[in-house]
Amino acid sequence: MRVALDIDGTITEKPEFFSLLSRAVRREGGMVIVVTSRLGTPEAEKETRKELLAWKIEFDELIFLPPAGDPRRLTCPHEGLDWYEKYLWQKVKVCLDRGVDLVFEDDPKVISIFEKYAPAIRVFLPC
Ligand SMILES: [Mg+2]
Repeated sequence: MRVALDIDGTITEKPEFFSLLSRAVRREGGMVIVVTSRLGTPEAEKETRKELLAWKIEFDELIFLPPAGDPRRLTCPHEGLDWYEKYLWQKVKVCLDRGVDLVFEDDPKVISIFEKYAPAIRVFLPC
């Protein structure tokens, strides 16, 4: 099983649960990716890795959504989305590309983009 975890409003709400979940998934041969819309500066990434370590979250990949102008930015093909939704859509794309089965996410905007563009991925609210 491949699981994606959001950080703010998700892992931060119940770190003990996501610690257990992440370790169980990986122990069973699954994959855990952490995808965040935090700004991916080297400093922020260092801080985020420290937090994940302190919460005992095990993961295979930590992904920051690239902002506009970043060469790693994923091009959104959906013209109906506004600039912010296109930014958030990258979260969906990252999950689709990695064959994610389920995602834990608290942001209603992100959830609605998952429902529209990746209906096969199950979305769980952290609370
Ligand atoms: Mg969140």
